Amino acid sequence: MTLTTELMPFEEAMARFDPVLGLEVHVELNTASKMFCGCPTAFGAEPNTQVCPVCLGLPGALPVVNGAAVEAAVRIGLALNCQIAPWCRFARKNYFYPDMPKNFQTSQYDEPIAFDGWTEVDVDGEPFRVEIERAHMEEDTGKSLHVGGSTGRIHGADYSLLDYNRAGVPLIEIVTKPIEGTGARAPQVARAYVAHLRELLLSLGVSDVRMEQGSLRCDVNLSLRPDPGAPFGTRSETKNVNSLRSVERAVRFEVSRQAAVLAADGHVVQETRHWHEDTGETTPGRSKEQAEDYRYFPEPDLVPIAPPREWVEELRAGLPEPPREHRARLQAQWGLSDLDMRDVVGAGALPLVEQTVDAGAPPQAAKKWWLSELARRANERGVELTELPITPAQVAEVQALVDAGRVNDKLARQVIEGVLAGEGTPEEVVSARGLEVVSDDSALGAAVDRAIEANPDVAQKIRDGKVAAAGALIGAVMKEMRGQADAARVRELIIDRLS
Ligand SMILES: [Zn+2]
Repeated sequence: MTLTTELMPFEEAMARFDPVLGLEVHVELNTASKMFCGCPTAFGAEPNTQVCPVCLGLPGALPVVNGAAVEAAVRIGLALNCQIAPWCRFARKNYFYPDMPKNFQTSQYDEPIAFDGWTEVDVDGEPFRVEIERAHMEEDTGKSLHVGGSTGRIHGADYSLLDYNRAGVPLIEIVTKPIEGTGARAPQVARAYVAHLRELLLSLGVSDVRMEQGSLRCDVNLSLRPDPGAPFGTRSETKNVNSLRSVERAVRFEVSRQAAVLAADGHVVQETRHWHEDTGETTPGRSKEQAEDYRYFPEPDLVPIAPPREWVEELRAGLPEPPREHRARLQAQWGLSDLDMRDVVGAGALPLVEQTVDAGAPPQAAKKWWLSELARRANERGVELTELPITPAQVAEVQALVDAGRVNDKLARQVIEGVLAGEGTPEEVVSARGLEVVSDDSALGAAVDRAIEANPDVAQKIRDGKVAAAGALIGAVMKEMRGQADAARVRELIIDRLS
């Protein structure tokens, strides 16, 4: 697709306009079954194997609300400091789309289960308050796969395939109120908010929040106005921005695009826009200038939801520590600097490091493994840290081997490589690959003797008192023993023999 979009440099746009953000996040809950039927929700199953008359919308099928999903919705609402509706209903949102077999989506309209909340996010170490409009329950649609076109979109495709496994999976849609006052930090605030939600939802245990698998999806609304006091401008809605980095880039792009339109005396069209990960651009989608009419009406097949007050209070009392407080406590316990902590959080590694420390690793070591060796491996494979086939407990086990002097740093990296390759636990990899450090004097002594014999000049220097020359002999021994010698012991043996 060729683009003729005019852009104004971001800094210039920020000098001339004031941005207003709005973020809509859809979260797939990790309940075992769907929102209104007993079908399983596991990701990645064969297409159309997790369906039944209810989620296919067959005539006469009757839905039943998933209690676990309601509980998750209430907990999310409470964690976002929302009011919980004492009574609310589901509504039918009527529209036709092939991936929605019922021809309506069961959602909530004017009676969301949670509303009027707020949350505080961390923007480069500074707190920023975001007001929450609502969090409501709904169900996911199926998935369309457009085959034959170059873009994966329906235009130009030869045919389309439909998979209804996802149809009916419980969703919570969390909508912010307009976010004002960000100024030029709008891209960072948007990113920080989504990162914060991800952390919050993870701590609640209600979703696996994998943006790359679509279990957390973000729509970015943005408008510009001449100055902070002015009425809101017309907004665009960029759909399905599915990584933290993309959220930030999408905001930057829309700021630059809309600023160019407004500066040329044009008007911003109210529309949905598509995000292009490869080019970092948005392109027009559906125009929203004519308001859509979904003909919402209360769902006649479902009873209203009326969460008892005592139950809501019980759930409130059982909420985990909020992410910012949790982070502050861990940082103090671990003795990490602000910068170190920001690195851990920014890498999405906080829960992993925390679990590794809980499994017995020193905090610095836990941080080091996840942020260096494992981050590099995840990067090579193009996956998130959480998707690597190694558990925090196994990382702690590798560190325990290091601390016991059984492997050195270099061997520890080979142990990790073995675990990632599916060769077993760290202990199993060590024995299968024979990775243990050799500190046995008879084996080391023989190698030391050979090194001395092969390097008479170096040996003479050491005899003459140039102890620094021992490095060359240690190197020779390490090489012979494929890096598995205890270097400190080798050094002692060399000095012993040559003094
Ligand atoms: Zn079903």
